[in-house]
Amino acid sequence: MVAPGAAGQRPKPYEFTQVHMGLPVRILLHASGERRAEAAMTEAFARIAALDRMMSDYRPDSDLRRLEGTTGWTPVSPDLLEVLTTAVSVARATGGAFDPTAGPIVALWREARRTGKLPPPEAIETARAAVGWRNLEIDRARGAVRLARPGMRLDLGGIAKGYILQQALRTLRTNGLGRALIESGGDIVVGSGPPGLRGWRVAADGADLMFRQRATQLTNAALATSGPGEQFVEIDGVRYSHIVDPRSGQAVTNGVTARVIARDAAVADALATALTVLGPEGAQPIIDKYRDVLISLSVPAK
Ligand code: ADP
Ligand code: MG
Repeated sequence: MVAPGAAGQRPKPYEFTQVHMGLPVRILLHASGERRAEAAMTEAFARIAALDRMMSDYRPDSDLRRLEGTTGWTPVSPDLLEVLTTAVSVARATGGAFDPTAGPIVALWREARRTGKLPPPEAIETARAAVGWRNLEIDRARGAVRLARPGMRLDLGGIAKGYILQQALRTLRTNGLGRALIESGGDIVVGSGPPGLRGWRVAADGADLMFRQRATQLTNAALATSGPGEQFVEIDGVRYSHIVDPRSGQAVTNGVTARVIARDAAVADALATALTVLGPEGAQPIIDKYRDVLISLSVPAK
């Protein structure tokens, strides 16, 4: 027999959704009471909102936007410092296929999506001159960054969501509710599994078998997907992605979908973006470098 009130102590699943970063963000967690679940969820969403304010590309007052036009050392928050440090390390590891300084090129292709016209070659050349992760200098000790070239523009669109979801999970863990999953727009981060289960079951349709199997029992990991989603422009029968190749200045047209499972959601997010650029031909060095990361690439059938 169950004593009255005891049922309230047993962990139950709770689900909450709020819109952040322009997308629904879903939190699933197991907690032994609604009050605890709600308190932790509220704190996690507040953390997401604060980080979004800091890193958003669309808010003119974000810390990220305020760096633009500066060429001296500028102090930044510990979070911005951390996400930029991870961004530069993925940029280095991917030979610049992921590049947090790709802003000027991303802006040109965003304009192309709006007008339906390809960016003029001169504009691409001008933008390329202001792109290069090596010119994003980071002084960890001083907590400051410097954009070494004029006209540089940071874009964290390929990494911020992963970082933000990872931090939100951390907030849940700090509240003792680590049996959680947080998901937004194709990026997922999970803590410990649901009670009695070995992990979270995450669908990865279209990925290869090993990847799909790993995704059925996910714990303390992140899964990111990048590829031809809804954001593209079709010009003369060619689909140009919202992901660009920072080295050539061109938008990606290969139709590749990249999926990554990694310990850290920021790394997973950024690597998925890079692998979309690199495609199967260019992926091997990344696979060799990130030994504990699981990667699945799919190319559209011709
Ligand atoms: P999604 O936004 O669909 O989750 P991604 O995580 O791949 O997809 O991020 C795409 C965004 O990243 C783009 O909208 C742009 O802001 C930025 N971006 C595009 N190409 C690159 C690149 N090569 N390196 C870094 N950031 C990029
Ligand atoms: Mg990404």
